[in-house]
Amino acid sequence: MYTKSFNSIKINCTALQQNYTQLQKKAGAGVPVMAMVKADGYGHGMVMAARAFDRGGCRTFGVAELREAVLLRQAGMRGDIYVTIGFAEEDAGLIFQYQLTPVIYSYAAAQALSSTAVALGQEIGVHVKIDSGMSRLGLFPAEMPMFLDAVSCLPGMKIAGIMSHFPESDNPASGSTTHNFQLFADACRELKNRFNGICHIANSGAVLKFPATYCDMVRCGIALYGYHPAVRVTPGDGQAPDLLPAMSFTSRILQIKTLPAGTGVSYGHTFLTHKQTRIAVVPVGYEDGYSRILSNRGHVLVHGYPAPILGRICMNMCMIDVNDIEGVLTGDEVVLLGRQGPGNITADDIAEKMGSISYEVLCLLGNNNQREYIE
Ligand SMILES: *Cc1c(COP(=O)(O)O)cnc(C)c1O
Repeated sequence: MYTKSFNSIKINCTALQQNYTQLQKKAGAGVPVMAMVKADGYGHGMVMAARAFDRGGCRTFGVAELREAVLLRQAGMRGDIYVTIGFAEEDAGLIFQYQLTPVIYSYAAAQALSSTAVALGQEIGVHVKIDSGMSRLGLFPAEMPMFLDAVSCLPGMKIAGIMSHFPESDNPASGSTTHNFQLFADACRELKNRFNGICHIANSGAVLKFPATYCDMVRCGIALYGYHPAVRVTPGDGQAPDLLPAMSFTSRILQIKTLPAGTGVSYGHTFLTHKQTRIAVVPVGYEDGYSRILSNRGHVLVHGYPAPILGRICMNMCMIDVNDIEGVLTGDEVVLLGRQGPGNITADDIAEKMGSISYEVLCLLGNNNQREYIE
């Protein structure tokens, strides 16, 4: 049975669809946008997010693990589904069974795919990952010619693309994106007669700020969910599409009480009232993805106004200061992420107080609470 939680993540599917449309327009005709829906769609729900992008016309999806790709296919998603961080060799059969697009960076993975392809009498198109400066997955550009030659010799294998990833495209001031792209573009050019496929490297940061890096396809994650990868967007940047945050997080007040001056609040009494203070108890804690780092730092909205978090955030609850907000009652809505009246709290606002990024806030909140979908 489905019992409603006090807390609710709301996902605006229209916002997701519109963000896709905006970004596809920015990428331009002929440059498809791959929708990255890993991490359960950055906390928005992988299948529901993919469906929203699909309604906007998206036909290419990216996940990290094979497991996610299989779930997406089982949910009825059509189109290309890229598995971007590899797969266990014994699972190579699933790539064929679910018609997935593997990204490889080892000869062992290529061999596993090749022998499965031969056994099934099929051919498989693979994308090869280059490490052009991220120092994460992938082969160095210098290793690529030999690797492509070796893979091409395996029966049933076709190199359908080569790809890389930017470490710093969220920072237009850094020169590394241009430098990394140069390495990637040089590799693509050098490998041109070794494969007949596409090249792709651009993530959200690059799509928004480095149009020269689009190549044959771009891969968007955070921007599809309504956030710019760089926390501070240059104001008045007419090039930046209007992205709509799709996630909000609400709860409600469980109890209200008035504490005399000098009263400690929550575990460790890290907050002491300096005057008589009306506080409210909210059923949101770190278990719900609301980080304990926000203790004595974060704030929420009540009646549209900011109510600071008082003391430590507990596992399932936290206390807020509602002293200066009129007429607050038990059961009133509390907004932890999103808009309420004149107030607005973004994932960037929360991330800044955590010393993190919007990506983590969306994953934490979205993946630890009941989600509702609205149009
Ligand atoms: C997650 C991911 C992206 C998307 O990155 P954003 O910064 O969210 O746009 C692109 N490419 C790969 C390989 C990824 O894993």
